[in-house]
Amino acid sequence: MKIINPATEELIKELVDDTHTSIAEKFSTLQNGQRQWAATDLLKRVHCIEKFYSLLDEQKEELAKTLTSEMGKPLQQSYNELNGARNRIQFFIDNSVKWLSDEWITTEGATKEKISYEPLGIIANISAWNYPYLVGVNVFIPALIGGNAVFYKPSEYATLTGLAIQRLLYQSGIPENCFQVAIGKGNVGEYLLQLPLDGYFFTGSYRTGRYIAEKVAAKLVPCQLELGGKDPLYVMDDITNIDKVAADALEGVVYNNGQSCCAVERIYVHEKIYDAFVKAYTEQAGKMAVGDPMNPTTEIGPLSRKEQKEFLLAQINDAKNKGATVLAGGNSLNQKGYFIEPTVLVNVNHDMSVMKDESFGPVTGIQKVKDDNEALQLMQDTEYGLTAAIYSQSYERAEALMKQINTGTVYWNCCDRVSATLPWSGRKHSGLGATLSYQGIRAFVQPKAYHIRG
Ligand code: NAD
Repeated sequence: MKIINPATEELIKELVDDTHTSIAEKFSTLQNGQRQWAATDLLKRVHCIEKFYSLLDEQKEELAKTLTSEMGKPLQQSYNELNGARNRIQFFIDNSVKWLSDEWITTEGATKEKISYEPLGIIANISAWNYPYLVGVNVFIPALIGGNAVFYKPSEYATLTGLAIQRLLYQSGIPENCFQVAIGKGNVGEYLLQLPLDGYFFTGSYRTGRYIAEKVAAKLVPCQLELGGKDPLYVMDDITNIDKVAADALEGVVYNNGQSCCAVERIYVHEKIYDAFVKAYTEQAGKMAVGDPMNPTTEIGPLSRKEQKEFLLAQINDAKNKGATVLAGGNSLNQKGYFIEPTVLVNVNHDMSVMKDESFGPVTGIQKVKDDNEALQLMQDTEYGLTAAIYSQSYERAEALMKQINTGTVYWNCCDRVSATLPWSGRKHSGLGATLSYQGIRAFVQPKAYHIRG
């Protein structure tokens, strides 16, 4: 498999893909290791993760450069991702003992009762490229702490990072027979679906997620899916700090080159402040620095792959053909690399792909609405259900909508945010199950009920 730098289109490295046979061997290695790992004291398992936490910091320069070179996020954002991942790991370090220890339910009377939490066994962690550290640690850290062995399948667009993660985990004391990496594209991921694994934890697109869920259904093991989104942001008419809200929304759209699962993908603005908002947003978008992600002044780097650039240009064209106006951007850069300008579209509607299908790039449509009801209807008009953001001075007014929106996460006066202490979960085509928070610790274990008499 060739690893290509999306900013230069140059070959970084060529790796040998796993085969059916090598995957079977790696599985057998994990079978040898998992029981012993599960029998290892919980505190010792947590201790290894503490070491991993430190190594991520000690080696951050090299790790950040590798990440930026293989998937294109601006270098500072690679550092931010490493820091964010460490914050999440700290949460797991601080909270796992509490949520994984035996729970005594009844200690009096003839029959005592307790719940213990046992690992699932060997789990697959099939992952995406856009935040390989963040979405990875949501899964493999609590899974390892919980006593599972992990078959980790990094995306083919973040494999060097996946291999770096493996190296650091081994350096931290995680036994090699508890963590193995599958190298390759979707066909290699497919081999994992054929194995008798004890759980499937997937981060990626709806299309692949649904396929995996169908494929493993008959195994009757947990299958969690963190999938895409088409997340809306609504600006109510009582907003007065329009420049600040426009800046927030723009960051929500373009951060990580627009490739966040919870990126702002469509914006609705009350008609009373629509013109002012569009002006502020377009001015700011037009000034953004697009280019070499290794350059510290760059704000938007390349998309991860050529097909994604072509998809976005087609989405912009579809909108234009149906009557949309481009106020900023709209083109790719005339140079090597998969760059696209931050693009602002108005006169948009829900017949256009840009308002319905996940864009996953620095492109957004801004639509005028006459009141909160119309905004709610449009926000709900999607097959996805990851997040939704509302900006208003009134919490009561925002909350009235937040309660009705069918998403796993809602934001008031913020957006594009994930917290280690809250469950991260999608509804509808955005996924199934939750990671992070105490629920994301318990997701990788199964309860055993003890009835103890005598
Ligand atoms: P993808 O579905 O193309 O690939 C994800 C992973 O699945 C990769 O490792 C890929 O090799 C593997 N894969 C592909 N086909 C497979 C098969 N048949 N069997 C087994 N594995 C297979 O997604 P992507 O392009 O890597 O990621 C982008 C998507 O991920 C976006 O939709 C984004 O919104 C979503 N995402 C969601 C979250 C979340 O937390 N909800 C986080 C990050 C990304």
